[in-house]
Amino acid sequence: MNSSPRNARAGSAAGAVRVAVVGAGIAGLTLALALDRAGVRCEVFEQAEALREVGAGVQIAPNASRLLRRLVPAAQLDEVAVRPAAVEMRRWDDDRLLDRAELGTATEVRYGAPYYLMHRADLHEVLRSGFDPGRLHLASRCVRVEELPDRVLLHFQDGSVRDADLVVGADGIRSVVREALAADRPRFSGQSMYRGLVPARELPFLMDEPKVRLWFGPEQHCVCYPVSAGRWMSVGATAPAGDWNTESWTARGRTEELLHTYRGWSEQVRAVLGALSTVSRWALHDRDPLERWTSDRIAVAGDSAHPMLPFMAQGANQAIEDAVVLATCLAGTGPEDVPAALARYERVRKPRTDRIQRMSRANSRTFHLEDGDGQRERDTALGRQQARDQEWLFGHDAEEPAEVPL
Ligand SMILES: Cc1cc2nc3c(=O)[nH]c(=O)nc-3n(C[C@H](O)[C@H](O)[C@H](O)COP(=O)(O)OP(=O)(O)OC[C@H]3O[C@@H](n4cnc5c(N)ncnc54)[C@H](O)[C@@H]3O)c2cc1C
Repeated sequence: MNSSPRNARAGSAAGAVRVAVVGAGIAGLTLALALDRAGVRCEVFEQAEALREVGAGVQIAPNASRLLRRLVPAAQLDEVAVRPAAVEMRRWDDDRLLDRAELGTATEVRYGAPYYLMHRADLHEVLRSGFDPGRLHLASRCVRVEELPDRVLLHFQDGSVRDADLVVGADGIRSVVREALAADRPRFSGQSMYRGLVPARELPFLMDEPKVRLWFGPEQHCVCYPVSAGRWMSVGATAPAGDWNTESWTARGRTEELLHTYRGWSEQVRAVLGALSTVSRWALHDRDPLERWTSDRIAVAGDSAHPMLPFMAQGANQAIEDAVVLATCLAGTGPEDVPAALARYERVRKPRTDRIQRMSRANSRTFHLEDGDGQRERDTALGRQQARDQEWLFGHDAEEPAEVPL
């Protein structure tokens, strides 16, 4: 299929539903694979001229890894992912252990799927390599979608127009497709996050076992974990944005300013941050849960539907869940069934992601408490973390038939 004809139709199978996906991030590519598997033909439109991902890590919990392992060869994931033994939470100034949540074999057996630590570029590449490049249209920035009674028109920056039975916005937190459903704007959290990678060999004191390390302190926290089969350490460190220019969504940060922000923190934290040769700085935004995710022929998925602060490490996981549920709802449908299929998708997905969006926002306070009574209460609660039931989050199988009621 020609990648940029004017007034062309997206998808081609006669009689079958034709889906246009806007955005080739984790949500868009996972959706494309899930639709392929469901026998639903789709075309993906991505604004970037080449696919590239930011140099940072992403945690993929069992609720999403079980789905990914059904969509791509598990060996491809296993080759690049790291399976952590645990998440360890420590105090900011003296490295005192506050909690250790086991994630090793027992967790894998319990949830039937592994916890993965991945470089975002590795995950992106695994997803991309599974999709037909002829149906992935780069340099295609969608500027508007227009819903008609029987189809949707996609207008692109170059003036071209495509149509489809249904458009899915997988175009991230600043989604253009979402504008067809709501008039809201991203909400700035007042926080920023520095992210970067360090060759693992430069941090030998972190090499005892693969794990997620978190340090909590006043107004900020730091997280680091191995990715890319253990070759790199992914590092993330939050900082109050202060008068930093939040208009620039992401920017190159400076390691010296990061070290200044983390003055007084433990030697380990400062050694990790000091090993970063380059860092990016992100202004952290989310949005309130969206009232409606769908119209008759438009839907949103991933950050386009439910951008959340990264304090539950679930944004990409929920994007993956969205993708498989939406594909399940569309399997076997014709163009006339699209409104009912989309309504079903929204009904299944929205309560879960609303909850996770709210919890992520709440953690933004809990993670950054000043030392004092509140912090001591939090640390005691963390001590009980292992007993806390994560079943609802990690044990969830988005493809269980019971999860997709008619
Ligand atoms: C600091 C930080 C740490 C995080 N850590 C984790 C974690 O550990 N675990 C986790 O699950 N999640 C994590 N997340 C969240 C996760 O990164 C996102 O939820 C996830 O990447 C969302 O994927 P997406 O495909 O919906 O959006 P995106 O990744 O933003 O992809 C959107 C795509 O759409 C394209 N696009 C945008 N507009 C248009 C347009 N108009 N036309 C065509 N194409 C367009 C973009 O170029 C991009 O390729 C983290 C987020 C941050 C900020």
